[in-house]
Amino acid sequence: IKDSYNILYDQVDRIQISSGKVKGVRLSSGKFIQGDVIVTAGAWSGKLLQNAGINVPIEPEKREIFITEDLKFRVKPLVIDLSSGVYFSHTLKGEIIGGIDLEYPRGFSDFSISLSSLLKFRMYVANLVKGAEGIGILRGWSGYYEMTPDHSHIMGYSENWPEGLYIDSGYSGHGMMFSPYSGKIMADLVADNKKSEFIDIFSPSRFESGKAIDEKMVI
Ligand SMILES: Cc1cc2nc3c(=O)[nH]c(=O)nc-3n(C[C@H](O)[C@H](O)[C@H](O)COP(=O)(O)OP(=O)(O)OC[C@H]3O[C@@H](n4cnc5c(N)ncnc54)[C@H](O)[C@@H]3O)c2cc1C
Repeated sequence: IKDSYNILYDQVDRIQISSGKVKGVRLSSGKFIQGDVIVTAGAWSGKLLQNAGINVPIEPEKREIFITEDLKFRVKPLVIDLSSGVYFSHTLKGEIIGGIDLEYPRGFSDFSISLSSLLKFRMYVANLVKGAEGIGILRGWSGYYEMTPDHSHIMGYSENWPEGLYIDSGYSGHGMMFSPYSGKIMADLVADNKKSEFIDIFSPSRFESGKAIDEKMVI
């Protein structure tokens, strides 16, 4: 396998399209890479495609995660408290890791974390876990959820798109869970022309054709 692909570390500035076909990508370094394109740029996918004149509804939404110091006992299940929006699980090392489903504004912003969310997270964890009163927060970080209008990912291609353009993006905060299977589905489609049943369900055209998915379980 190692001779059949190249990995380049660079930024795609533009997807080049001509006469209804994708020609390749222009990189920040100035290089042009020829071939079909699968857009997997997460929260940046909407912007990248918009530059190529294609509208795909994917917007960034900042989310924060916190991690506590070790607990001496285990909290076995993944805990989701729908009333407060707090969710967490226990790492193998012993810390509690999680976040809160707060109202986060859409759009690109900095990757800071806020003290008020940190304190809320700590309070809700202490309320739900006996023995976690006064627990310290070791650190936190933030990133973007890549939100679509129906909170489901966008996968495959549209009949109205230029030939050779694909997408696998917009996982709306649950992309890690999907990644092994979505990678297989996309490889089957692009490399072997084998179309999984999921390609039509998650197609980018579903928003225009009124076939949006009714996904409610998003935290
Ligand atoms: C706080 C937080 C907690 C989460 N928790 C979970 C969880 O518990 N379970 C779960 O399943 N998911 C979780 N997610 C969501 C998960 O991280 C994402 O859904 C997943 O990472 C999406 O994968 P992706 O490859 O589509 O996009 P990304 O992981 O965002 O990767 C996209 C990549 O494209 C790069 N890129 C962007 N623009 C360009 C360009 N022009 N040229 C070149 N490269 C570019 C970016 O730098 C990035 O590296 C969480 C997300 C956040 C922020």
